[in-house]
Amino acid sequence: MITIKTSEEIEILRAGGRRHAEILNELAKRAIAGVSTNELNTWAIGLLDEGGDYPAFLGYTPDGAKRSYPAALCVSINDEIVHGIPNENPRILKEGDVVSLDLGLSHKGMITDSAMTLGVGKISPEEKRLIKATREALGAGILAARAGNSVGDIGFAIENVAKKYGLKSAEGLSGHGVGYEVHEDPYVPNAGMPGSGPKLKAGMVLAIEPMFVLGKGDIVLSKDGYTYHTKDGQKAAHFEHTIAITNGAPIILTAL
Ligand code: MG
Ligand code: MG
Repeated sequence: MITIKTSEEIEILRAGGRRHAEILNELAKRAIAGVSTNELNTWAIGLLDEGGDYPAFLGYTPDGAKRSYPAALCVSINDEIVHGIPNENPRILKEGDVVSLDLGLSHKGMITDSAMTLGVGKISPEEKRLIKATREALGAGILAARAGNSVGDIGFAIENVAKKYGLKSAEGLSGHGVGYEVHEDPYVPNAGMPGSGPKLKAGMVLAIEPMFVLGKGDIVLSKDGYTYHTKDGQKAAHFEHTIAITNGAPIILTAL
């Protein structure tokens, strides 16, 4: 069921989303060579706590998962696309890594979801281009997220950016509704036909999250039950914002 949030709820999401952006930016600054994924997770918990907010991913069990997610933050490195677990077999970030940070924040009971990808130190021009394209696709998806359009228009906009750069989306991974729960209806695919899927209405809150890869789009789920990585070992990038549909331009809830 697709839920419609009230304007009061959207204000709560916007307040939480501002804090969300601050925390993600702070974590991005700290994601340098020599830092462990476990430290990033611990800092995320501390920064959430400072604002009186809660980690929305910690203890959350997505549909089909065998156990709840054990961390506040997802840290996905290089060929990992999403849901890398930072505090089990923690890794040390090193120069040249492509790192995605994905955080869920619960503010006054309302949940936002946002992610970004960065290079640790020097990365290749190809990797920079992957990151640029994925960020651009998020912007294009957000522009298409307007009342009267459909979920498929968002996917179409994202897919067009992938095509423009000659890149593939990670297959089978998509955005989603969010707000009361981490994952709500509808699916927000990263490809699609214009006008297809559920119609967008004011008050819908969506997590739009393009995931592009340098190689083929095939994905593999790791033994930990969470981490998705590329089958061919090529690098991936991921950008995500939580947005609210209005009768005009969407509100980017997880922006500063
Ligand atoms: Mg996310
Ligand atoms: Mg998400």
